Amino acid sequence: MKKRNILLLVLLLPLVAFAQFTNDAEEFCTARELVFRTKTRHFLGSDEFVYNYLTTQNFFTSDSASFIKYRVPVKLWIYTHRDGSGNISDEEIGVFIKDLNYFNIANKTGFRYYLQDVEYRQKNRHYKLGYFWEAPWQSFIHKDKGAINVHFAGNIKKAGGTVSGTFNQLSRSVLVKKGSTRTSLTHEIGHYFGLLHPHRYFKGNKCHQEAVSRTRKYKGCLTRKGLICETSGDKLCDTPAEPDLLKSVNKECEYTGDFEDNWGEKYVPKVNNIMSYPAYRKCRNEFTAGQVALMLYTAERNRFAPYWQTEKNGQAANIQFNFDNFEPDNAKAMASVLKEDETQYHSFHSIFKGSGKKVGKDKTDWVEISIYTHLKNDMNIKFMQGVSVFPNMEVTIFNSNNEIISTKNISKNGQSEINLKKLPVGKYYIKIEIKENHTFADYILSYTN
Ligand SMILES: [Zn+2]
Repeated sequence: MKKRNILLLVLLLPLVAFAQFTNDAEEFCTARELVFRTKTRHFLGSDEFVYNYLTTQNFFTSDSASFIKYRVPVKLWIYTHRDGSGNISDEEIGVFIKDLNYFNIANKTGFRYYLQDVEYRQKNRHYKLGYFWEAPWQSFIHKDKGAINVHFAGNIKKAGGTVSGTFNQLSRSVLVKKGSTRTSLTHEIGHYFGLLHPHRYFKGNKCHQEAVSRTRKYKGCLTRKGLICETSGDKLCDTPAEPDLLKSVNKECEYTGDFEDNWGEKYVPKVNNIMSYPAYRKCRNEFTAGQVALMLYTAERNRFAPYWQTEKNGQAANIQFNFDNFEPDNAKAMASVLKEDETQYHSFHSIFKGSGKKVGKDKTDWVEISIYTHLKNDMNIKFMQGVSVFPNMEVTIFNSNNEIISTKNISKNGQSEINLKKLPVGKYYIKIEIKENHTFADYILSYTN
């Protein structure tokens, strides 16, 4: 670690500890607004501002599949016991990233996430991280540039219990407990891109609590003026004011609370916001337009935005990072399923690692094929030209016993098909490795029986 970082850490750690001690003990995610929000100070949570901003982003004229503004690398730090136990499997890693993209696509956020790298920390004493010191410390010393750093610990211990996830404002890193819910990572990355909890300061006075009414204004508050919903709570008017939903949402995802705000109006909260706290986390599935706008606005001001963005001055940008929809699939346990007569577009893309010169490469794809009935014909696996360079590839096919049944080289001017004689019923895995050095290459894959 650089000297400057050590100095910064020594100066700031007491602040982290102090600020976090003030948390509500019931909170699961304990991210709080700690530092001044200089980058988003001109953002206004009114519906009008949000609408105008999203219009400039072509939000309303795009569908969710094509609305991709940023491709953001995610670096995973996985804490295990010294003997490697307590690990997160490749399959789980794949699911984390695929879930993250699922909720982002479903809500048309404009963000797509890909794996930058996975690094394992094998130390018994770091398997369970202490919330106040160890977790912030580890997130300061293990940090890669240009990516969102996500730390998966066996547990994040806090007096009186554990924390399922947190976003550290100072290291700007995400910490998640293993086995957390499908939306935990999406929620914490929401904090990374500027989102706050809708119930923030719901126990506060009239100058701090968000009012149920969307038109209520501050009265007699020193520094606060204008509409309350633009400044209190999560500062967004399109997320209703809400109490902490932990004990007031039932299994059916219905609000069962009877709370009133400081002005005597009953809360009418949503129960499905990804930044909220229903006890049944499966209820969470939504970002509002205001939340999407704030995340995009924050991302635009990130120092790595020039490398994450997919467009510059109306032109496609950073196409070397254009990973396909099946990523991550660089391990057998992450293999994407290919069905008969389906065509899949796959790319071997570059991986952003903090500067224009430092890039990694996605070199391997894994695909899974299932054969359910006895085949009468040979199987034909086809590799076709994508939109860029068609590379030389080595293709290895495994049966379900992990035995190699075929190895072939595929190239543009050579062979581009593989024929397999009447395969028995079972699962097969295809490993496709690029054998050349390209910043970007791609192919289209399909098979017939
Ligand atoms: Zn949170």
